[in-house]
Amino acid sequence: MMLDLSRIRDAVSYEGGISRRLFLAYGAALAAIPAQSGKTEGRTLNRLAFADNPFALGVASGEPTDSGVVLWTRLAPRPLEANGGMPAEKLKLTWEVADDEGMKKIVQTGDITVGPDSAHAGHVEVNGLKPDRWYWYRFRSGDADSPIGRTRTMPPRESLPEKLRFAFASCQHFEHGLFTSYEHMAKEDLDLVVHLGDYIYEGAGKDKLVRKHLGRKITSLDDYRVRHAQYRSDPLLSGMHARCPWVVMWDDHEFENNYAAGVPQYKETDPAAFLEQRAHAYQAYFEMMPLRKESVPQGPNMKLYRTVPFGRLAEFQVLDTRQYRTDQPNGDKAADLNADAMNPNNTLLGGEQRRWLEKALTASAGTWNILAQQVMMGMVDRAAGPERRYSMDQWPGAAAERIKLVQFMADRKIANPVVLTGDIHSNWVNDLRVDDRKLNTRIVATEFVGTSISSGGNGADKAKTQDDMLKENPFIRFHNRNRGYVSCTVTPEQWKSDYIVIDDVLKPGGKSSVRASFVVEAGKPGAKPA
Ligand code: FE
Ligand code: CA
Repeated sequence: MMLDLSRIRDAVSYEGGISRRLFLAYGAALAAIPAQSGKTEGRTLNRLAFADNPFALGVASGEPTDSGVVLWTRLAPRPLEANGGMPAEKLKLTWEVADDEGMKKIVQTGDITVGPDSAHAGHVEVNGLKPDRWYWYRFRSGDADSPIGRTRTMPPRESLPEKLRFAFASCQHFEHGLFTSYEHMAKEDLDLVVHLGDYIYEGAGKDKLVRKHLGRKITSLDDYRVRHAQYRSDPLLSGMHARCPWVVMWDDHEFENNYAAGVPQYKETDPAAFLEQRAHAYQAYFEMMPLRKESVPQGPNMKLYRTVPFGRLAEFQVLDTRQYRTDQPNGDKAADLNADAMNPNNTLLGGEQRRWLEKALTASAGTWNILAQQVMMGMVDRAAGPERRYSMDQWPGAAAERIKLVQFMADRKIANPVVLTGDIHSNWVNDLRVDDRKLNTRIVATEFVGTSISSGGNGADKAKTQDDMLKENPFIRFHNRNRGYVSCTVTPEQWKSDYIVIDDVLKPGGKSSVRASFVVEAGKPGAKPA
């Protein structure tokens, strides 16, 4: 995407952030430019003889409803090349959905056209499927067949299912470790995987780690595409995508560390170029994920927050805490909940998403109301003794909004709120109150924070400062710093989270074990060891 942004740049008075007005102006200017214009030739090929497997990136599905699902693949015979080894032409791609693993009883089939504008990625929104059942699917282009993927629809919207099994994961730094978690996750009988962000990391390749990123720190569309392709080339990751539908949400590293809307971590970055880079990051993310049309990026904007119901048993509100947030207060340095942190204008959600969330929670028929999001909501004081210090990149950086949100859930008696969190490469169970500093008030929700898949290497069972931290914050029911994921079993009566840890992610064959299990009984807020 080539833009002349010099006029906008000249108009910027840049003081640690982009003003809302200028931000909207950039967004509008960039959104008006069609993505990747001028590359596509008019011709659509019906078939192409591939020298290499064009389905090296596998298949995926996502966004399940009670009647449909999104199927995904990307044609890339040489996935680590900028164009995936594909020609500039568009190409026909056939998809099939079957009732059986052997793809004998085809229930739906169709053709789509994929082209270089979207890296030859295909997104198929299949409708008219039966509720609450498994399906198998594959793609075909010319002589080449994709691997067969397995997916499922959700139970009927008005039904109360007996059980939901799902896992949630986050933070999979390719260089820090292997994706062994997905090897073990694939053996579980899961309806759904929820990914809470840091699906890729943006840094340049570094030597002497477990594996090495290709290329420089990613900024261009080609850079983001190749980085996503490198991650998805991991067979454990693509294998898990083929096992069941995923619901995905980004955090910061899909674009850049600790960014806030249009404000970069490195304040000297040209703000207009930064938004242009955001457009590239979001475009590549959309291309690689099984998402619906409503999430197609418009320049640097991409709507990703949404509701995913599982009958009346559970309703996921999937939140985007990066795209609309205000810049971290206190210069993003841990601080007490001072005037800067408590500023009522600070937000992680932005006004539009917050109003949508309040409406969605009020309208929800879910027995369990899940906020699937990125940063820790528990107000964890990081300083020993009377001094208080909170992370400004997490919810304490928008403390007034966080207090209001939990207050809202308490006042409206939102049924059984559960918060799912990633981001910080460690496991936590936190009981949440309107204000976690007030321990004599009642518990409203429970937060399950899941550790990283690989970010940070092997980690440790226990941090040196753990005992002090738990003493400082009695609402923390569990903390651990191993790698892994969280496996959840949800029934109308009880929520159970199993913290699965992997003993070694630095070499293949790491073993998994259940490090801890916590339950919440419906109608009785607060987590207990299982
Ligand atoms: Fe991370
Ligand atoms: Ca303290």
